[in-house]
Amino acid sequence: MKAPGDINRNNQKLLRQTAEKGTDHNARKWVLKCGQCLNVYGSNSTDAWERKCPKCQQGEAGLAIPTEHDGQAWTREEHVIAFEVYSRISFGTIHMRNPEVIELAALLGRKVGSASRKLANFSRLDPFLQQRNIKGLPHGAKGEESVWHEFVKNPEALAFESELLLAERQGKSIEEVAQIETDDLPPPGIEREAIVRVRVNHKFFSRRVLSAYGFRCCVTGLSVRPLLVASHIIPWAIDHTNRLNPRNGLCLNALHDRAFDSHLMWIEKDFTVRISPKLNTTEKASSPAEVWLSSFDGERLILPDNFQPDPELLKKHEKKCLDTIAASG
Ligand SMILES: [Zn+2]
Repeated sequence: MKAPGDINRNNQKLLRQTAEKGTDHNARKWVLKCGQCLNVYGSNSTDAWERKCPKCQQGEAGLAIPTEHDGQAWTREEHVIAFEVYSRISFGTIHMRNPEVIELAALLGRKVGSASRKLANFSRLDPFLQQRNIKGLPHGAKGEESVWHEFVKNPEALAFESELLLAERQGKSIEEVAQIETDDLPPPGIEREAIVRVRVNHKFFSRRVLSAYGFRCCVTGLSVRPLLVASHIIPWAIDHTNRLNPRNGLCLNALHDRAFDSHLMWIEKDFTVRISPKLNTTEKASSPAEVWLSSFDGERLILPDNFQPDPELLKKHEKKCLDTIAASG
């Protein structure tokens, strides 16, 4: 183990090296993360290479995680990294026991409470959460505000930068951090960069939408992750301004996602699911699968805690569906 991102034979990953003295001769304190149970803990640098997780592998108790940056003003870079975490965890999970919040604190060398407060501050800037009377920002929260406004102004640039900064901190490539398949990518160069940029942004949108919906299809309630898709209400290629807007998203199972995209399903502005008469057949000959697909007609959408779908965007999509039906007679 030499640099952040390295993993030892027990699947313990080096998250951060610190200059703080460890408890062994010549040791520094390093922060490790268990690849099995996501536990984050401090370790002596001298035995990190053979460390076992204290929680799930009966390894020796972890050392306290250094919080040497606590009390210092947050930098822009730290705010951008915190924003990345904010954007992929759901509002209800911003608390000190959430492993993502604990990891953010460990990565920045700050107390967990401080990281958790930072994330809560972002939620106070969220227009949707403001409608629900989440209290305003405390004084001294300029950093959150300016990063939030940068995101509002140019979401794609900030989303990409946030993934890049996180990748650098974790000693990973941006492809790894954004979990992008690299097998089909062209060799490093301008073309690859452009593709990676688009995929990173897709991933950013997708995580934001899926986590808002608690990884549950909003039509069927299905929660099998590999079958879930963050669907754009107005397609990515058509509406540039709403590409990363989570309120332009729905968490759907792959089949209803396809139906939605093909204008065979829409959501009314009161969040009632409608299945196109083209699919919604009551003929005796219909297969059980078709019956199942259309059985959600008239049901109410299972709404997320934050980032509810924007009724204006739903209306546009609905119009497109109705036009399609009218055109086909
Ligand atoms: Zn573990």
